[in-house]
Amino acid sequence: MHPKNAGEEALPNFKPIADRKIDAILISHAHQDHIGTLPVLMQRQPDARVFMTETTAEIGNTLLHNSVNVMTRQREEIGTTLYPVFTHRETDHASELWHWCPLRHPLSISGERASQHETDDGLTFEFFDAGHVLGSAGILLRAEGRTLFYTGDVNFDNQTIMEGATFPQDKIDILIMECTRGDHAKPANWTRAREEQRLAEGIDRAFTRGGCVLIPVFALGKTQEVLAMFYKFRREQLLPEFPIYIGGLSSKMTAIYDRRAHTTRRQLARLQLMAEMAPFVYPLQYFCATSSRKSTAFDLFRRLCGSPIAGRCFAECATG
Ligand SMILES: [Zn+2]
Ligand SMILES: [Zn+2]
Repeated sequence: MHPKNAGEEALPNFKPIADRKIDAILISHAHQDHIGTLPVLMQRQPDARVFMTETTAEIGNTLLHNSVNVMTRQREEIGTTLYPVFTHRETDHASELWHWCPLRHPLSISGERASQHETDDGLTFEFFDAGHVLGSAGILLRAEGRTLFYTGDVNFDNQTIMEGATFPQDKIDILIMECTRGDHAKPANWTRAREEQRLAEGIDRAFTRGGCVLIPVFALGKTQEVLAMFYKFRREQLLPEFPIYIGGLSSKMTAIYDRRAHTTRRQLARLQLMAEMAPFVYPLQYFCATSSRKSTAFDLFRRLCGSPIAGRCFAECATG
């Protein structure tokens, strides 16, 4: 949903498919900008089958229920009667209809297993680990002897928890790419290790001055990465133990990372973030809806400064 618009104006442009019956909806991952209006689309396309990974389904359900809460609050705050654009009940109903797809299993549009080089039986699709957030996938479509690959948001580098994407190596005819870095190339001497070191030093400098640190991060993905980085910093004695504050949605997402730690492809598989890092959970769901506003971090900072919370904190938002 568009964070600066409200109601119908905040929805994606569904007009080009308004008069057409869609067979299937393929969801790459559960960030707000990829799944945020799925119940609306499902209402408008009731015959479309919806496919995603099982993990995306769990995260997506959590995220959409959170969105209903946010929209219900916004209904009063910004006075739009168009909100919520879907309800808790509609969210539950929608998620009951989702089909879960394992990675690297070609499926037909009816959800049946298909052979890898299906040609006669129409279109097939296959999900590949995109290394972006838990459950994320790039999607390979095959039809009429040709292939189309949609990357979704993707990360080819190993992160602290997530391992880099494992995409198909075969020739692709059409590639649809998304990225979260825009057109900014990494500096020539960029390394993740050096950036982590720089982050730890920056935080340490702030603490030495008696300050606190606010890190605007997405509830899904970056929150868990940052928590895991802090865990590493602590083990490497780059930083001492310090209180950490996260928002309510972040804690729910982190619990899913913990619960699925042994069944997903990831690093630090035994690390249980909620138990190990024991973050304080601050009820900040409001910020989930306004995550793309530049002022979010500042708003949050002002609120926290005026609140009884003293110490170090970081915030959350739901897009990405
Ligand atoms: Zn995205
Ligand atoms: Zn994303």
